[in-house]
Formats: sequence, structure tokens, C-alpha cells
Amino acid sequence: MGQLVWLRNDLRLEDNPALYHACQTAQAIRVIYCATPVQWQQHQESPVQLSLRQALLTEIAERLATLGIPLDILEVPSFKELPHLIQQYCVKHAIQGLWVNQQSWLNEQIRDTQVENLLTLNNIPFHSFHNELLVKENIVTKEGNTYRVFTPWYRQWLVRIQATNIDVLPVPQAIGQPLSKVHHKITLPLATQHREDLWPGSQQHAIKQLIAFCENGAQHYDKRRDYPGISGTSLLSPYLAVGAISVRQCYVYLQQACLQQQTSWLETTWLKELGWREFYRYLMINKPDLAKGLAFHASKEPQWLDNQQHFSAWQQGCTGFPIVDAAMRQLQRTGWMHNRMRMLTASFLCKLLLIDWRKGEQHFMQLLIDADFSSNNGGWQWSASIGCDATPWFRIFNPLLQSKKFDSQGVFIRKMLPELSTLNDKDIHCPSSEQRALLGYSEPIIDYKESREQALNWLKN
Ligand code: FAD
Repeated sequence: MGQLVWLRNDLRLEDNPALYHACQTAQAIRVIYCATPVQWQQHQESPVQLSLRQALLTEIAERLATLGIPLDILEVPSFKELPHLIQQYCVKHAIQGLWVNQQSWLNEQIRDTQVENLLTLNNIPFHSFHNELLVKENIVTKEGNTYRVFTPWYRQWLVRIQATNIDVLPVPQAIGQPLSKVHHKITLPLATQHREDLWPGSQQHAIKQLIAFCENGAQHYDKRRDYPGISGTSLLSPYLAVGAISVRQCYVYLQQACLQQQTSWLETTWLKELGWREFYRYLMINKPDLAKGLAFHASKEPQWLDNQQHFSAWQQGCTGFPIVDAAMRQLQRTGWMHNRMRMLTASFLCKLLLIDWRKGEQHFMQLLIDADFSSNNGGWQWSASIGCDATPWFRIFNPLLQSKKFDSQGVFIRKMLPELSTLNDKDIHCPSSEQRALLGYSEPIIDYKESREQALNWLKN
């Protein structure tokens, strides 16, 4: 007899409400993680993110074993088969209650309702905890509607977080003798080789990185965050995306660091970025159509062109625009891309190539180690000017100006495109035809001015 905790996007022992409260029952605990490879493929789960999950689960299994808790990996093709599988597992292990942390996405909610219904029929209670957001209650306008603009929503959000007691839960205490050491590496279907050198698969590493950023990086964030050649952002998105750290931990450590430095955490730009993350989740919860591939402003959506050659060139980082190509190669090589570069490459695809944002969204989902359905969807809809509080349709990023402004000495371009590294700081942003031929670098696939003109006419109509 015992309790069962089902880990999903909450791959951590610290501040894990479901795990913590299950352990308070003082009964035997088991933990499961469910692999659903067919569903993952439908959701475009990125293999690099699965490899990070795999590494984190290996660490979690070892840490849980020291608390006397076993971790099992279960596998079925898709969410559809999960209710039955979990019910069978519960019967086999005489489980008396299932404990989970809520997920806000549509398919995941449907899945949970189906699991809950089947377990309820079997008299097994389903305990679910608020987890993904800093503010639990839905934030609505005075008229009771969903906010359509970020800033007034953010003001409300700040008021609510000040009124909420935001705290983090400790790692639960051992509930039994340590289990004999589990030294096996967990493997998940579809996962690739993990880049441990770039993204250590350790929750404790993630917390250290978070604390170091809050103490040393957050106060310079505003000035440094736009330059892809330096490390001016937290690089925590992969860990937030899989729940190796919680948004509550981010908030609490930021607050502590600001208190020590006698500054106000509520005014930090970094908190605002956490706000964007939460805003996109809020939109998904209140407008579930977003999860079905629909634009927030569907009526504003133009007819997209479908130039496959242009799309492939963009995907491969061979557009002939050095800053765009450097960013796309960063994505290929590291599984991550700098935020300004995401905005630039997305604008390039939707506005200059006039390719459907959904194609870019899918490509990012499949390659990003921090792939996060709502942030990615929100970022793409924003870039394509059909999202909630999106950039205006006539705002088209100029790759050359962006390159000169945010990578003036070509540090980022040189790192990602070594074939251009011998060029001087001026030429590196737009090499001449002779230089391209000599260095084996592509000619631009479009003429920026012509494409901009064409796009403005197209989008206006
Ligand atoms: P920091 O700048 O240190 O920010 C801290 C955290 O705040 C991030 O880890 C992230 O969780 C959140 N955050 C920051 N900026 C944003 C933002 N604009 N929108 C939502 N959340 C934000 N972020 C993802 O986590 N997953 C995605 O799949 C994703 N896809 C994107 C696609 C496009 C087209 C665009 C324009 C943005 C996308 N973003 C996505 C948002 C942003 O680019 C990344 O969160 C950020 O680059 C991660 O780096 P960091 O951890 O160093 O962020």
C-alpha cells in the first residue's frame, strides 16, 4: 500500500508540491515518469530536450533512492493509453492515491481528466497541485475579460504576486531506508546524445546557476541581454521548460538577491521576462484555440507563400545573411538561441520570406532544448504580428542593422560562422560577392529592400 507521484514537467525534488505533499502522508511512495513517443512526435517534442530529461531523471532516480523511493519509467505510445496503464500500475502496487502537479496545456489537461476519471472509478483519489504559475487565480479585466495586452496584465500580475505568499518547498525527508544504489542510466525513446558540456543534466547545477545569476547577473540584465556575443541572460530556459527549477524558485532567489543589494525586485527587467512566460501560459489557458494552431487574431492572418527552397535555406542557416545564419547555426549546434536572434530569425521567415509562422514554430519546437509550447507559440505569433499584443505588421527587422547594432564587432557571427572569421568588423555583417566566393559563403537568397517592399504591400492588403 502506498502513494504514487507522477512526474511530468516538474523534474525536481526541491519545491515539488505533489512529491512533497505525498511524502507527508508518511506512507510508502513510488514515483513514475511516462514515456509516450507517438504523442511526443505529434507534439514535435525535441530530441535534445528529451536527452536533458533523460539526464535529469537519472539524477532524480539516484536522489529518490537515497530517500527510499523507487522511480519507474513506464511506456505507452500516446496519452490515449495512459489511463489504463496507470490504473494497472496502481492495482499492481496497491496504490491509494495519485499525486501530480498541474499542466496548463490542452492535451495534457484532457489526459489528466481521463486518468482522474478512471482512477475515481477505482476509488483512487487524484491529488493535483497548482504549480506552473506564480499567480494561481485567473487575472481578468474589470469587465471580466481576458487581457489582450501585456502591460496592463503585467501591472495586475505584480499586484497579485505582492499579495501572495510565494515560498518554496524543501526536498521531502526520507520515508524509508535508502534503496540499494541504482546506477543505471535512464534512457527515453527518441532522445539524442546529451550535451552535458553545455547543459549539465543536474537539478542542483540548475539551482546554483539560478542563484549565481540572481546575485551577479540580474542587475546588469537590462544592459546586457540584447547582445548574442556575450553571456548576458540567465540561460535557465532549458531548466524552466522541463521543471528542473520552478518559477517560484526564480522569484524567491531574485527577491533574496535584491534584498541583499537593497534594490527592488519588482522593477527588474528579468522579472518582466518571467512575466512574459506566464502571460503566454495565461493566454493558452484562456484561449485553448491557440493550442490548435490558430492565430490569436485569425482574421489578420495573411496568405503565406510556401517557398520550400527559402525555408530550407533558413533552416540550414544558409540565407546569406550572416547574423541570421549565425543564429540558425547556434540553434542547430547548441539547441538554444538568443532571444533577440529568435525575434530576428522569426521576423526574417514570416515577414521577409512570407512563410507561414507555423512552419517556423514547428522547426523551433523540434530543435530547442528549452522548447516550451506556450512561449514558442507566443513568440512566433508575436513575430508574425497575428498574436496577442504582437509587434505591428509593418515592423520588419533589418538583419544588417540588427547585426551592426547588437553584434558590432562580429563576435557572435565569428563564433557560429568560422568561415567568415577572417573578415574585418565592417565586412563581416555583409561580405562582398568576391569575399563570399573566396570563403565559400552563400549569396543572399533575397534582396532585403525588394522583399521588404513586397512584404509591406502583401501584409497591408
Ligand atoms: P532570460 O532572458 O534569462 O529570461 C529568463 C526566463 O524568462 C527564460 O528562461 C524564459 O523562461 C522566460 N522568458 C524570457 N523571455 C521570454 C519571452 N520573450 N517569452 C516567454 N518567456 C520568456 N522561450 C522558451 O522558454 N521556450 C521556447 O520554446 C521559446 N520560443 C521562442 C520563440 C520565439 C520566436 C521567440 C521570439 C521567443 C521564444 N522564447 C522561448 C522566449 C525567449 O527567447 C527565451 O525564453 C530566452 O531566450 C531564454 O533564454 P534565457 O533563459 O537566457 O532567458
